[in-house]
Parts: sequence; structure tokens; C-alpha cells
Amino acid sequence: MAHAETASTPARQRAPLKACGDCNLCCKVYDVDDVGKKAGTLCQHTRESAGCGIWGLHPQMCQDFKCLWLKHDDLNGLWRPDTAGFVLRLEPNGTTLNIDVDPDRPDAWLKHPYYKQLKLWSEGIYRSENLVVVYAPEGLYVVTPEEDLFLRKPKRGDILETGMEMTLFGPRPFARVIPAAQAKLRA
Ligand code: SF4
Ligand code: SF4
Repeated sequence: MAHAETASTPARQRAPLKACGDCNLCCKVYDVDDVGKKAGTLCQHTRESAGCGIWGLHPQMCQDFKCLWLKHDDLNGLWRPDTAGFVLRLEPNGTTLNIDVDPDRPDAWLKHPYYKQLKLWSEGIYRSENLVVVYAPEGLYVVTPEEDLFLRKPKRGDILETGMEMTLFGPRPFARVIPAAQAKLRA
């Protein structure tokens, strides 16, 4: 909702520039092939005080990573990844919100206030405006307002397909993983 600014209404304050502080969750939750790092283990280049020990020479994937918490003024300290227990990132399509869960805190995303907010964000699926996908240790959940659709994690090259389908009970969201070989045939 937009608010008109008047002389008596102070302009919206921007949050102070955020910093990672002690957080290093993005150096834990992802595969980083260039440094031989597997998802779920802390990168060997992480400094004890947090931060990257090879900063400047760190892999392109790390350089390209955009942490939504860091970039977004509206996400307060509760959403800092090491507090929340997951990293928030947007797919390049700008509409898929990914939640990459810390394997040592697999249920953190289900806690208050996170789960309730994910459900609110998931309402965009009806308008094909956005998608909320949780990458948990046990698999992947496509969060929808009614239910969380559980799928196996896609392998490299697999495609996650989502949308709405007509059922006996009316339109319902669906999600499925299309294996890479099948996805190629469709292309
Ligand atoms: S997850 Fe975000 S806040 Fe945490 S270290 Fe990475 S960039 Fe910084
Ligand atoms: S190379 Fe640096 S930025 Fe990349 S995962 Fe390792 S510590 Fe993090």
C-alpha cells in the first residue's frame, strides 16, 4: 500500500547498511564445486571470525551469490540467516523465493514467525506471481497456502515444474520434478 508523503509525515527511514557479522551460513548450505565443498559442511576457507579467507579470489559462484537478507531493508534481524536457520535467496527469474535450510536446524523454517510469513508469501502462487520453495535436508517443499508439497530434491539438470491444475475439489497447486533426460526431450 502506498502512502502519500506530507510535510508532517517523515520520509521512510532506510535501515542502516547491513553486515554479515558472525553469520557464515551461505558458506555452509551450498555445494561449491570450485573449492570441492559439499552442501551442509562449512567451507574450509571460512575464517574463524567468519568471512572468507580467500576473498577476492573466491569462486564466481560465491561472488554471484545474493543474500536476500543482506539486500532487503524490510527483513529485520530475526531473518538474519544464522538467527533464522536458513538462507533466503531469489532465483534469477525474480519470482521464486528459495529457503535453503541449515541441515543442523532442519525445522527452523517451521517456527514462528517464519512459517506464517512463508505461507503469506506463497499466496502469489495463485497469480503465478511467486513461488516459495524450501530446500530442507530431507527434500524439497513447495509451500502453498493450503499444503506444503513434498518432493525429492532435483538433481543437476532436473526441472521443477509448478502451477495450478483442476481437481474434483477445484483448482489446486501442483509441483513435480522433471528428470533432466525428460526435460531435454521437451526442450
Ligand atoms: S548468509 Fe547472508 S548474512 Fe550470512 S554470511 Fe552469507 S551473505 Fe552474510
Ligand atoms: S570460498 Fe569463501 S565465500 Fe566461497 S564458500 Fe568458501 S568461505 Fe564462503
